Amino acid sequence: MEHLSSHEAMSAWSAAEKAAGRTVGFVPTMGYLHEGHRSLMRLVRPMVDRLVVSIYVNPLQFGPHEDLDVYPRDPEGDAAACEAEGVDALFMPPDLYPDGFSTQVAVHGLTDHLCAASRPGHMEGVATVCTRLFLLTRCDVAAFGEKDFQQLMVIRRMVTDLAIPTRIVPGPLVRDADGVALSSRNAYLSAAQRERARTLHRALFRMQAAERDGVRGADALRAMGREIIDCDRLDYLEVMDAETLQPIDAVGDRPARALVAAFYGSTRLIDNVALGPELAWT
Ligand code: AMP
Repeated sequence: MEHLSSHEAMSAWSAAEKAAGRTVGFVPTMGYLHEGHRSLMRLVRPMVDRLVVSIYVNPLQFGPHEDLDVYPRDPEGDAAACEAEGVDALFMPPDLYPDGFSTQVAVHGLTDHLCAASRPGHMEGVATVCTRLFLLTRCDVAAFGEKDFQQLMVIRRMVTDLAIPTRIVPGPLVRDADGVALSSRNAYLSAAQRERARTLHRALFRMQAAERDGVRGADALRAMGREIIDCDRLDYLEVMDAETLQPIDAVGDRPARALVAAFYGSTRLIDNVALGPELAWT
């Protein structure tokens, strides 16, 4: 596995791979890798000749009072995980942006609600860093987890709108044995908070089961979920159209999604489940 630590090195590596006629797959991450990240590597690995993973805690996607400075890091463990998954190049730059960087990529509509609304500038930071990373890696395929459902939909829209020649493949949300969605931020939780965090997926699964039993109204479904959730502050619990990410009154004949974000102390966790007909990824 090659270790690349500058954008010049990343760009030169991918230029050489492309010149040799090889396809490149890409999994962008912020590190502190877990099974959710590794599942994305395993998803892309057989689709391409070369696989790149990036580890970069992107300041553009953090708000002023968020956890940028304390975001968990484990460069050695991450490198070992990448090696074990057959990664060809690990791109871990200390900085990613050139001096005087002044550009922002914004995707509208899909960012009206959810994480984009509660974290101003976050989705623009994600869209901007992904654009830069896609161009540096020249990737043919990139994988994103359904754990960050809004992010996945925003990136899909962005590559279509900007004609970026990268196919975005979604990876299923991976849960821990107790059902909690795997997240690098779970490392912040105390044992008691972790126990309470289990109510998030329980609430979502309850909503999913109720919807399958014929409860379609968004308010009724959300009320059922709210009854179960035990958190310090609920950021949102929403029922949205899965493709437009706009609120709906009831689950109908289009794919929908129940999405939650909740705080345990200053730790913000997110999770989601599918409702209604299955989403046809194209
Ligand atoms: P992050 O390091 O949190 O920025 O995540 C990097 C990628 O891993 C994103 O595409 C996430 O959606 C994905 N990811 C994170 N956690 C999970 C999970 N529990 N299941 C599936 N994918 C995940």
